Amino acid sequence: MAKGVYKKTEEHKRNISEALKKAGIKPPSRKGIPISEETRKKMSEAAKERKKMSDETKRKMSEARTGEKNHNWKGGQFTCSQGYVYILMPEHPNINKRGYVKKARLVMEQHLGRYLKPEEIPHHKNEIKDDDRIENLRLFPSKAKHTGFHQHLKKLNLQKEVT
Ligand SMILES: [Zn+2]
Repeated sequence: MAKGVYKKTEEHKRNISEALKKAGIKPPSRKGIPISEETRKKMSEAAKERKKMSDETKRKMSEARTGEKNHNWKGGQFTCSQGYVYILMPEHPNINKRGYVKKARLVMEQHLGRYLKPEEIPHHKNEIKDDDRIENLRLFPSKAKHTGFHQHLKKLNLQKEVT
């Protein structure tokens, strides 16, 4: 690791594990049950407590709340139609329009102690897109390298079928 480059590592790690904790760990009884009024209250209280919240962040957070209409909404996290898990993290530098980041990226970032570059792609080794354990992730430096790897896998599979 280069000196000085990862200054914010500890803070960054804390932020991510906090977000993962908030989004990922839920009491089992709540599974499949729509978000409760109590949870909703807690979430808005937590939002109020955030210091130095910019207007931009506020806008992103309120946009993100429209996720509640999505049936996959689980309070700060959802699974997209392609099967990837997203986590609400309005203060992350590389979020989508609604303030979400792919969980695989967060897990990889926490592992590396730095933010991923937008072109970097975490690959799911077992092809299960919501299996975001670090052991199941492999980072590719670019979309092209990642696509190339998939083509390579496809070729291997075809060879298996032939023989
Ligand atoms: Zn992949």
